[in-house]
Amino acid sequence: MSDHTTADREARLLASVPDGLLIGGRWRAASDGGTFAVHDPSDGSVVAHVASATVADGTAALDAAAAAFPAWSRTPARERAETLRRAFDLLTARADDVALLMTIEMGKPLAESRAEVTYGGEFLRWFSEQATRVQGRYGPNPEGTGRMIVSQHPVGPCFLITPWNFPLAMATRKIAPALAAGCTVVVKPASLTPLTTLFVAQLLQEAGVPDGVVNVITTKATGPVSEAIIRDPRLRKLSFTGSTPVGRSLLELAAGGVLRTSMELGGNAPFVVFDDADLDAAVDGALAAKFRNIGQACTAANRFLVHRSVADEFARRVTERVSSFRTGRGTQDGVTIGPLIDEDAVAKADELVTDAVHRGATVRTGGSPLDRPGTFYAATVLSDVPADSRLMREEIFGPVLAIVPFDDEDEAVRLANDTEYGLVSYVYTQSLARGQRMIERLETGMMGLNVGVVSNAAAPFGGWKQSGLGREGGAEGIAEYLETKYTLTADPFA
Ligand code: NAP
Repeated sequence: MSDHTTADREARLLASVPDGLLIGGRWRAASDGGTFAVHDPSDGSVVAHVASATVADGTAALDAAAAAFPAWSRTPARERAETLRRAFDLLTARADDVALLMTIEMGKPLAESRAEVTYGGEFLRWFSEQATRVQGRYGPNPEGTGRMIVSQHPVGPCFLITPWNFPLAMATRKIAPALAAGCTVVVKPASLTPLTTLFVAQLLQEAGVPDGVVNVITTKATGPVSEAIIRDPRLRKLSFTGSTPVGRSLLELAAGGVLRTSMELGGNAPFVVFDDADLDAAVDGALAAKFRNIGQACTAANRFLVHRSVADEFARRVTERVSSFRTGRGTQDGVTIGPLIDEDAVAKADELVTDAVHRGATVRTGGSPLDRPGTFYAATVLSDVPADSRLMREEIFGPVLAIVPFDDEDEAVRLANDTEYGLVSYVYTQSLARGQRMIERLETGMMGLNVGVVSNAAAPFGGWKQSGLGREGGAEGIAEYLETKYTLTADPFA
């Protein structure tokens, strides 16, 4: 496609994205007329303006979710399932547009955006299937004096807050199980990437989601708008994906109303390569675990712990591959590394790399921001990173692969677990027994054993320790939106 045709297509797509708030089935402007700009991180240009909700708009969105709850919660599960399935089909039909939109507002290469449409869409399909599988129990109590009924009920109106790094999947991973369970929602996408959620909300309307079941508010007044919703006694559940510090403060707020919460927070994933690993497979897995999403994934491998006997060879092989990566706007052919989300992200990656280098790490390739428009950081490999470096403790959230050598299994386990986070770990070994020991010894909610990407809509995604509370996806994902009721009935034969 010529540059001209591509620009036309992008302009038409951007013009088709709603720019208002979706409240009670109607798109409307913010009550004070406020808007904010959305940027393309590959060059900093403004690509859209969207409404900036006020506190009153946030409350109106919750009003709509509360009003729609009784009817939606009583809608037959089969009907809710079919609505979600139609949404899946519509999303699949518009996959190219959704992918392009994500690349424009978030920066990831188009091939990765397409993969996210597949992954994000899968939550709609998976939970359309789960909607009809919510079941209860009935049976005699042990004393034989009555009958126990255990039933499941939707929790009620939910507030869903999502981050910018996976604009589609983080939204569908919450919206789909909530709707499947019979809950209504107010969704607040990240203000850096609101367009994908607005576009998907329109698809949900097309799929037949009734007015008020899904409400979307975009805002720059994030703190006050969110606080008012969380403090409102009609809210029954808060589901948040984002950084651990914001998650902590939202948990404090949620404590006021003893709200049900799901928290998908930060990570600091160890990627452990033992001396008996298949090194080619480990290198492939490492590149996927590190550079997918330009390193901006909560599941991104942050620390590469490599047995000393293979550390140099591992570093040599990853460096050779990383040196050939092509950086640029995610829409260009062959680009594997897009821009970071903003200047703060570039500054943070650079700070962590500089700190490691000052402490003695070796730069094998990259190691600095790129001198070009947009917020680009060079794909980087560091070896011999000292264990006291900041990037061993903090999420890098950038394309920096940091290698730390270790000498034995106990040291690998100690280093891997030496973090407040516990989202995911990756282990490469050809020993079955060692692999099983790692499953038992590593303190993470998820693990990739000889694989570098674990996410799947059918699996319970979530972390231990300060990486979060609750699970998204799998059979567990819908349970987060259900309350359990136990009823004792009198003995029917008494
Ligand atoms: P963030 O700064 O915590 O923001 C996430 C969301 O929270 C955004 O919608 C943001 O809105 C909102 N937010 C910020 N301050 C808030 C407040 N005071 N009250 C209510 N909402 C508030 O995180 P991020 O930088 O977007 O995302 C990166 C982080 O998310 C990383 O730590 C990553 O590991 C984590 N993450 C975790 C998972 C997981 O499943 N565990 C998945 C993806 C990402 P604004 O945009 O308007 O500020």
